[in-house]
Amino acid sequence: MAGLESHSPRGCRIVMPKIALKNETDWDGWRQVARRLVLAGIEPEAVTWSVGGTTETLPEASGSFSLSRSLVSLASVAIQAREPERFGLLYSLVWRAHAGEKLLEDGGDPDVALARRLALSVRAEAHRMRTNIRFLPVSDSGATRYLGWYVPAHFVLEANAQLIARRFPDKAFSIVTPDGAAHRDGAGLLFGSGLKHVEDDDALRAWWERHGRQLLEQAEPGTSVPEAEDLDEAPRPLDRPALGPVVLKLAPDPVLVRAGKDATNCHRCPLYEPATQVVFGEGPAGATVLFVGEQPGDQEDVIGRPFVGPAGQVMDRALEEAGIDRRTIYVSNAVKHFKFTMRGKRRLHQTPDVSEIQACNVWLTIEREHLRPRLMVLMGASAARAIMGRAVTISRERGRPIRMADGQTAFVTVHPSYLLRIPDAAAKAREYEAFVQDLKSIKAIMDAA
Ligand code: SF4
Repeated sequence: MAGLESHSPRGCRIVMPKIALKNETDWDGWRQVARRLVLAGIEPEAVTWSVGGTTETLPEASGSFSLSRSLVSLASVAIQAREPERFGLLYSLVWRAHAGEKLLEDGGDPDVALARRLALSVRAEAHRMRTNIRFLPVSDSGATRYLGWYVPAHFVLEANAQLIARRFPDKAFSIVTPDGAAHRDGAGLLFGSGLKHVEDDDALRAWWERHGRQLLEQAEPGTSVPEAEDLDEAPRPLDRPALGPVVLKLAPDPVLVRAGKDATNCHRCPLYEPATQVVFGEGPAGATVLFVGEQPGDQEDVIGRPFVGPAGQVMDRALEEAGIDRRTIYVSNAVKHFKFTMRGKRRLHQTPDVSEIQACNVWLTIEREHLRPRLMVLMGASAARAIMGRAVTISRERGRPIRMADGQTAFVTVHPSYLLRIPDAAAKAREYEAFVQDLKSIKAIMDAA
């Protein structure tokens, strides 16, 4: 850490430290420095944060202070965001908390809101990585190593590798990303260089055969990243068979990317106003199955991607059990902005009304007409109304292919958020199983096409 000095108008020295952290997820380093800076009385505006570079001694500081567990937990997740300003943002929260501000109780504080959005996005990406990564068994010195490749939107490699290592203590694995790679070797985790791009599983396997051993030998122990409680959920078993041949990078359709950008300026109904952003559909070009839900939820509204919140996580699990690879389907909603009502500081979901579904149908129609999917999976009554143009009783029409007037095929099922709302555990398990059965029927239709 290099320290610059300036002078205040009264002639006192002002230290302006330049902090160089070891890496993008140097939680321990950031925490130690933040503590020293606060105790030395160095204001957030005076500090410059970066990753890598030379370090120097910080100003002397003594004493101690403590922070609330919830603030530490928030910072420990938000620091994994791919956001260059996060170190300074989190330091300013620590600074203000030390000054006695009750930060987390103020729902309207913009810095707290930003940190929460970053943490939310990190959690969603950590889950997404664990859901989407496919492990290939490869040979490594006569034993089996599970090899996965992924492009994370945030710096979630370390936390996920720690979690996977803990859950599968007897498995050797390597997770390769463009930022770097994590290897479980022997009892420990090692981190080393990664791989920018790979076309498919065969190319990944060939790359590993050429370079894997050398990469393992060059890898080193890394810093440890805290595993927040809500990151601590079961990862996919490493040796579950991959869902058929997988092309690792599935590009989105440029026409639909363009439509998604156009939708950011949509004012066709009032829902754009209170929402954070439009949440357009996503999926690879040429997807043959279109899954339609109702509208983005609270987390989707913040993150800007469909089905990444709790309902999306239920859907991911059920898709996996049904043998459907989420990376091959297109997922969207009948309504592209989050409709909610405030209760205290919480945003509670509100069902969109018919006029809003009709207003937003222009975007769903673009997605539908451009994709021309072989099958449209309509999850819940709003999705069914949007596509079928009439009220649909889910219990009466679910679970079978329905031929539409235009020759396309629809399949009605429940929305995964319905499963989250069932209070009775046994009924919830039954309904979840019925949802998986519907997805298995969908898989059979996909395979037969
Ligand atoms: S909900 Fe749909 S129609 Fe309404 S403003 Fe958003 S994008 Fe436009």
